[in-house]
Amino acid sequence: MGKNLTSKFRETLLRYWGYSSFRNAQEEIITSVYAGTDTLALLPTGGGKSICFQVPSLLMDGICIVVSPLIALMKDQVESLKKLGIKALSIHSGMSSYEIDVALDNAVYGNYKFLYLSPERLSTELFRARVQKMQPSLLVVDEAHCISQWGYDFRPSYLRIAEFRKWYPNVPVLGLTATATPQVTEDIVEKLAFRKDHRVFQTSFERKNLAYVVRQAEDKLGQLLRIAEGVEGTGLVYVRERKKAEEVAEFLLFNGHKADAYHAGLPAPQRTAKQEAWKKEEIRIMAATNAFGMGIDKPDVRFVCHFDVPDAPEAYFQEAGRAGRDGKKAYAVLLYNSSDDRRLKQIFNISFPDAALIKETYQNLYSYLGLGYGEGAEQLFDFKIEEFAKRFNKHPSTLWYALQSLEQEGYISLTEEVDNPSRITFRVNRDELYKVQIANPRLDTFIKLLLRTYTGLFNGFVSIDENHLSQVSRSAPAVISEYLMHLSRLGVISYIPKKRSPQVFLHTHRLEPGNVYLNPASFLQRKDTWFRRMEAMLQYASSEAPCRSKQLLAYFGEGTASDCGICDVCLARAGEKDPKKTFERIAGKITKSLQKGPVNIRQLDLLFTESSDQVMEVLRAMAENGDIRISDDSIIQT
Ligand code: ADP
Ligand code: MG
Repeated sequence: MGKNLTSKFRETLLRYWGYSSFRNAQEEIITSVYAGTDTLALLPTGGGKSICFQVPSLLMDGICIVVSPLIALMKDQVESLKKLGIKALSIHSGMSSYEIDVALDNAVYGNYKFLYLSPERLSTELFRARVQKMQPSLLVVDEAHCISQWGYDFRPSYLRIAEFRKWYPNVPVLGLTATATPQVTEDIVEKLAFRKDHRVFQTSFERKNLAYVVRQAEDKLGQLLRIAEGVEGTGLVYVRERKKAEEVAEFLLFNGHKADAYHAGLPAPQRTAKQEAWKKEEIRIMAATNAFGMGIDKPDVRFVCHFDVPDAPEAYFQEAGRAGRDGKKAYAVLLYNSSDDRRLKQIFNISFPDAALIKETYQNLYSYLGLGYGEGAEQLFDFKIEEFAKRFNKHPSTLWYALQSLEQEGYISLTEEVDNPSRITFRVNRDELYKVQIANPRLDTFIKLLLRTYTGLFNGFVSIDENHLSQVSRSAPAVISEYLMHLSRLGVISYIPKKRSPQVFLHTHRLEPGNVYLNPASFLQRKDTWFRRMEAMLQYASSEAPCRSKQLLAYFGEGTASDCGICDVCLARAGEKDPKKTFERIAGKITKSLQKGPVNIRQLDLLFTESSDQVMEVLRAMAENGDIRISDDSIIQT
């Protein structure tokens, strides 16, 4: 029996994905889920979490509902499932209520296997009414740590998932996450209302090929240059601010490295283009804010350098972990100096504004959206914080943190900016459409064009591309839009023009000032956990022991890890213990890099994991010994 199942899972994996075997814990997780057990799986980013629900769901009756916090990731997954010939759809902010209606209908009657959902949609009336008619096979909670207030990225709408469980007590739940401390793990199990016989799977977070390095550096740009010159292959530099991303990229370019900048302030098409260029290695080093990297699956990143110390070990571990997914040696370097301490503490201070400001922002938001008391629940609005801030004469970042607090209190949800293409669907059936075509010869040509270019237009919304239509029909884009609007006015199609804007979703009607309640206890708790995370991060950055890998693993509850042997701490310790061996190791690396020909002394900093003093000492000794020659302009050769 067990063997039969196993081969069924493998067959499915091979048939749809073409992979011949499962990775580490995948098979056990799948077996647990398939048996109907509530399951929590902690696997590192890139570890293959999606397969853990996609494979069993394909073998189970009904639709698999996946709650996911990021629209961009959700879209990616739906697209890749579709490419594999699997019916999948998503419901997220950024869709009109009519569109959601159609999608929900499809989820109920359309024989779909996967429905991806934004968490804030779970509790809407619209969803509630339809979900009763669905037959879910499995509920998946991606990024499950978002349900915990102790977690790095708490999203109150995740708490609504427990309600869903009440409607479907027999549908198993699979929680997935790559970052969870033991406290968060426990919290997930509780908040997702796991049944008694649940199971937790955790593979080690250890990354044997990743050398963690912390560099105390007043001159961070200089250090960065050494890394860029010393390490071959693709890299990522994380910075805190958008402007800094531009500056760092410019600096690298100026010094002869193919670099570019990426941050959320850039238009979406440009971001996509840059991401692709980096993946194809037309750009070697990307200087980016944390907007970069989500869902990017590039195995051969050789270094991730943090130019600024991040808020929390969770963020650091996630971002640094993007290096070396292929299992080959890679570096995760954190550049640190005392100004990082100051900056992080400043950020901490503005991140928790006064209750008065939060409440004022609440009222201003509803006014800005044109809503009076008792209005606005479950509505979605385009929302640009810069414009909002301008209207009330405030600094956007001040308001940003006030809005964050409102989000944490469960009043609103802010969504990222996404590129939503135009979408259409026919509101009439084929016969009715035919009548329209006969009556309107001019429209007939255009309708035929639509039918030729896209399929599925009668069954739900389909993304269309006006530019493409304009090219194939040799008419101006404006003409295409005109046709679409016309058909829409006639009630023949529903047409949602493309747009690109961040949005705000309101969970409740506007409350009178006296009724806006901010929970002081949870506010303090959030502040406290933030502070402790920040302290843990600064501790990592400023400490000189123990082993870096050990420090990170201990934070995530793996107290028994052994020394990695390749981080800066381990290497320094080896140097103290056995100077001769260290000397030989460094000399060996130097000799090896000289095999390709003479190098500049700066490029030798591929040894940047060792201290430069040590390296200089070895160089001097080698020169005295006649093994190498060092010229006046710092060129070394044998
Ligand atoms: P995660 O969600 O854990 O970050 P994903 O589910 O996105 O990771 O998977 C990362 C990559 O690994 C994807 O390209 C996926 O197709 C691939 N992958 C997953 N499982 C396997 C497997 N058993 N064999 C080969 N590749 C796999
Ligand atoms: Mg994932």
